[in-house]
Parts: sequence; structure tokens; C-alpha cells
Amino acid sequence: MADCPTWLEINLSAIEHNTHQILQRTGVPIMAVVKADAYGYGAEKVARAALSAGATWLAVARFSEALALRQLGIMAPLLVFGMVTPPEADAAIFHNVSLTLYSQEAAELYAARARALGKKARVHLKVDTGMGRFGVLEEDALFLAKQALELGGIEIEGIYSHFANIDSIPKDPLAPIQLRRFQVALESLRDAGIDPLWKHFSNSAAALGYPETRFNLVRVGAALLGIKPFYFEPFPDYLRRVVNWKAQLASCRLLPPGWGISYGHDYITQRDEVIGVVPIGYGDGFRRHPTNEVLVDGLRVPVVGRVCVDLCMVRLTRLLPLGSEVIILGEQGHESIFIENLASRWGTSQAAVTTAIHQRVPRIYIRD
Ligand SMILES: *Cc1c(COP(=O)(O)O)cnc(C)c1O
Repeated sequence: MADCPTWLEINLSAIEHNTHQILQRTGVPIMAVVKADAYGYGAEKVARAALSAGATWLAVARFSEALALRQLGIMAPLLVFGMVTPPEADAAIFHNVSLTLYSQEAAELYAARARALGKKARVHLKVDTGMGRFGVLEEDALFLAKQALELGGIEIEGIYSHFANIDSIPKDPLAPIQLRRFQVALESLRDAGIDPLWKHFSNSAAALGYPETRFNLVRVGAALLGIKPFYFEPFPDYLRRVVNWKAQLASCRLLPPGWGISYGHDYITQRDEVIGVVPIGYGDGFRRHPTNEVLVDGLRVPVVGRVCVDLCMVRLTRLLPLGSEVIILGEQGHESIFIENLASRWGTSQAAVTTAIHQRVPRIYIRD
């Protein structure tokens, strides 16, 4: 048991296992996506685990995340998905961080900074095939590529796109349409003699379920972290779960009938009830939702009353010692609460659940 009221236990051996499995199943190099502190798991640890297990590339959303990894001595090829400011572009070029080429303005910025530094800016051209986010439409890809090359100082080392629905719809009907658009962009570049080395489209779901989308690199976040790749399928037997969110029971008392619990007294005891206090609240990323549950004493118990910033109350079946293990995410006895269960209860995505777990919850790294 950790020496704190609540903590996240993250199994690095499981991340390595998942990396091996994905490498084996896809047969192509992996770009480990560690944006947003690797969805809350810790970007450095996840990056090192994935690289040690054979991942080739890393990716983040912001340049600040890339710089943090470089300053920790992580020198693997590294792509920034998002926008960079002019000073960030300078630093990215200096630190050999690859940037996303998604507009004419971005091309002009990268080219100007690269020329000023006397170095090449390495870029991956982003094609918007149906996400409506970064990128150019397939018919504009060649124009942007040519323009970037004519400006000078830019090396187009990659080209990529991103699926919108592939993890949430069986046999996603948009996927082949998106894929076709990407191929149109690739062919237009190829016809003009431009053939970027790295072609990538797949996220976790596409990499594992749609072999035709793998090209020569797959961008994998969720599956490395033991987050279910497909919302509509059970957890795959070849992946391992990675995270447990635990807490220690902070108080446990028998309260009389008619006793109001927490702000607003949304819950009032019906009889003599054992009410426990769990040291997790919405300040930790445990959302205020009317039907939360946790595991205590091998049982699934209801959270009663409103979730506070730092605490919530649970109705127990018997008095338990303080410090008893409470599971917010994980397994206890025959019961389990997994990321997908919390995500569907809260009506959000799995990555949104783990990414919102606040930094004050210590991350404890284990191996087995
Ligand atoms: C977040 C992200 C990924 C990773 O997706 P997972 O479903 O977590 O594997 C891949 N590519 C891009 C562009 C992303 O933004």
C-alpha cells in the first residue's frame, strides 16, 4: 500500500507487453502517442516503457510536451501534432522535433525559422480526410507540399491523417472513404515525385482492426495503456490492463436514520447505516455523478450524497478498519470497475477519464 490517501498504480510491464503485442500483430513500427502526459499515466515513464519494448517514434500534441521529453534525455524521433508558436518552431528545429504541416501559414513559419537557423525543419503533412481538425483536403495536399518545398528549409519526412469514428462504430463506414481520400493525396504527391518516408493513418483501433490502414507506421496511445481500443467490443485478450486507482478508507462510522450526507443532503440515511469516507473527489478527477460506485471489502458499494472536492461518502455493509483498500479503478475480489465502465457511466471517452485524474494523485509505477 502506498503511503498516501489515494494513488494511481501504473504497471510498466503491462505497457511493455501491450507494445510487444501491437508490434507483433501489426508488423509495422509504432509511434507511441504520449500527449496529455500519456492520458494521465505519465509521459516520461510511458515513453520509456514503449521505447524499451520496441516503439520507434513518439508523438505529443504540444511542443512543451516534446521539449520536456527532450530535456529528460529522450532522443527518439518525436512528432508534435498541434500548432507551434514562432519561438517554439525555433526550439523544435533545434531539438530535432518534427512538426505538423497543416497550412500555408505553418509552412511559411517553419521555412522562415529553419532558414534563419540554417537547419531543416522536418515536417509531416496532415491531410484532413474527414475529421475537420488540422490538415488540408486531399486535393490541396500537393499544392501545400510543393509550396513548402519551394520555400526551402523544409523536409517532408511524413504524411498522415486521422480517423474520426473508427473506435466507436463496428465496420466504420467512414473509414474506407477517409482511406480513399488519403490515397488520393498520396498519389497526387507521388505523381509529382514527392514520396514522404513515413505514411501513417492508424490510431489504436485502426491499427488493430483495419490492417489496410497501417501503411508503415501506426500511432498508438490507448491500446498501449490498456484502454479498450473498440468501444463496442470486449477488452481484447492479448492486451493487459495497466492502471489501478486506489484509496484508503479515511473514516467509517455508524450513523443514525435520517442523517443527511454531504452538501445539499441529496442522500439521507434510511436506517442505521455504515457510512465511509473515501479521500477522492472531483478535485482528483472523480466526477460528481449521481450513481458512482467503488469497490470496498470485495463488494461494489454506492457513493452516497454529492461528491465533494476532496472526498466522497460510501454506504458500507459493516464497520471496516480505517485504511481499508478502496478501488476506484481496478479489481477487488470478484468485482471490477474498469476505465470503460467509468467512461460510460460519465458519458465520456475512456481517455477523458484517465486524463482528468489530477496530478495531486501520486502515480506509483510498478512492474511484475
Ligand atoms: C490522440 C491521437 C492518436 C492516438 O489515438 P489512440 O486512440 O489513443 O490510439 C493518434 N493520432 C492522433 C493525430 C491523435 O491526436
